[in-house]
Amino acid sequence: MKFVDFEALRSKIGSALVVDPVRLEEYRSDKSGSISSNRPSALVEARSVGDVQATLEFANSEGIPVVPRGAGTGLAGGAIGDAGEIVLSMLKMNRVLEINSQDLTAVVEPGVINSELNEQLRTEGLWYSPDPASQAISTIGGNIATNAGGLLCAKYGVTRDSVLGLTVVLADGQILNLGRRTVKGVTGLDLTSLIVGSEGTLAVIVEATLRLKPIRPDRERTLVANFSDVVGAANAAARIASSDLAPAVMEIMDELSVGFVNDYLNQGSRDKAFSKLIVQFDDQDADSRIKRAMSLIGNTAVSVEVDRGDGESESLFAFRRAFHPALAARGRVLIEDVAVPRSAMPAMFREIQRISTEFEIPIPTVAHAGDGNLHPNFLVDSEDIPARVWDAASELFYSALKLGGTLTGEHGVGTLKKRWLSEEIGDAQLDLQRRIKQVFDPRGILNPGKMFDERVHE
Ligand SMILES: Cc1cc2nc3c(=O)[nH]c(=O)nc-3n(C[C@H](O)[C@H](O)[C@H](O)COP(=O)(O)OP(=O)(O)OC[C@H]3O[C@@H](n4cnc5c(N)ncnc54)[C@H](O)[C@@H]3O)c2cc1C
Repeated sequence: MKFVDFEALRSKIGSALVVDPVRLEEYRSDKSGSISSNRPSALVEARSVGDVQATLEFANSEGIPVVPRGAGTGLAGGAIGDAGEIVLSMLKMNRVLEINSQDLTAVVEPGVINSELNEQLRTEGLWYSPDPASQAISTIGGNIATNAGGLLCAKYGVTRDSVLGLTVVLADGQILNLGRRTVKGVTGLDLTSLIVGSEGTLAVIVEATLRLKPIRPDRERTLVANFSDVVGAANAAARIASSDLAPAVMEIMDELSVGFVNDYLNQGSRDKAFSKLIVQFDDQDADSRIKRAMSLIGNTAVSVEVDRGDGESESLFAFRRAFHPALAARGRVLIEDVAVPRSAMPAMFREIQRISTEFEIPIPTVAHAGDGNLHPNFLVDSEDIPARVWDAASELFYSALKLGGTLTGEHGVGTLKKRWLSEEIGDAQLDLQRRIKQVFDPRGILNPGKMFDERVHE
């Protein structure tokens, strides 16, 4: 690691530059639980596009790696900094610059927290629909860089569907305005979509033009069906998904997850043996859709509960929302994230059961069943993730790929899934992706060691 004199950068960005070792320690990790071998050399808390440009110009000329970072809630190790690197935090660029209720657009800085944007929009009757479960703690910039999904995405789309345009700073400090403010537009290659999901490897997002919707009508109806086996729940979900019912939300919790939440909420063992399928409709004719969903479930469920239409939906959903805290209360966990075609969900749940038995690891699993996205959670009984758990996770990834699925539905590749990337996309595509990276970032300073970058980031 070469010595870096940061004074030239300090003269441009002043107190935005932080080199206090105690503060830097925090930037060695994110919510994935991975930790780099050493703390980064510096942190920049950017307050303006100028700060971002100055940092990248300095880093590019000195050949210093830069790790863009939002709130650090990522689950793939994509925002962690290591020795010799600068972490570029976007959290202080957090202004909502414009809300346009005629065009249904908003222009925001990247550090705006997702749910805080929605609080502002609500007063205008508007809604930004991408809703990761981390919406109260993650940034719009991070959501865009990971193409975040959420519970409502099967009906309302993932982050990419809500991004019209981006302003980005390239590795050499140059500013580019990408995309548009119009509903339609096909001029040139779609570089906006390329940046969405690029995990900080191609450019730093400094502004986003977002597509809004009128606020979601307050008329949700929810049903919860209990199944003696999660495969039965997955079969019912697949039937509903291939019908014209279009649920706003469709979630599955397997028996183990339900048991954990029961314990966490002190609800005893009442539901312990049952998997849950939770389906929510928000259309004008939600009542009739609930009835049709019930007939598709038929007698495959042990029991079905339906909210009485008096705001009870929220309490039925509270059980699903309690899953993350219930898991966190159990200790260390590797949160996984694969997606398969919806028809393959029952087979994928069977694979998870097989892997759990073979490797003797409890794997409580929840799924955004509306889009075939499963989160198997590997419980770990040590601080580090043991090789046995990685072997089980590897088996999981191969199973998903064999079923026509993908390594990651929404959390991204980061450092954690790099070694499996070519298994999904193949060597020729991996090579093409690396060459695209070179065009954007010839010196390779942006988020090295992440996603498709060959360098090792331990
Ligand atoms: C409890 C919990 C629940 C979660 N639920 C979901 C969920 O339902 N759906 C989901 O998709 N994810 C979920 N996540 C994962 C995580 O919250 C998302 O990936 C989120 O989008 C990350 O946002 P962030 O601001 O924390 O970004 P960070 O973690 O700081 O960064 C994530 C990646 O984006 C890059 N990046 C960040 N900002 C920028 C920028 N301005 N320009 C360029 N690159 C940038 C980073 O380099 C990194 O590669 C969850 C996480 C937790 C802890």
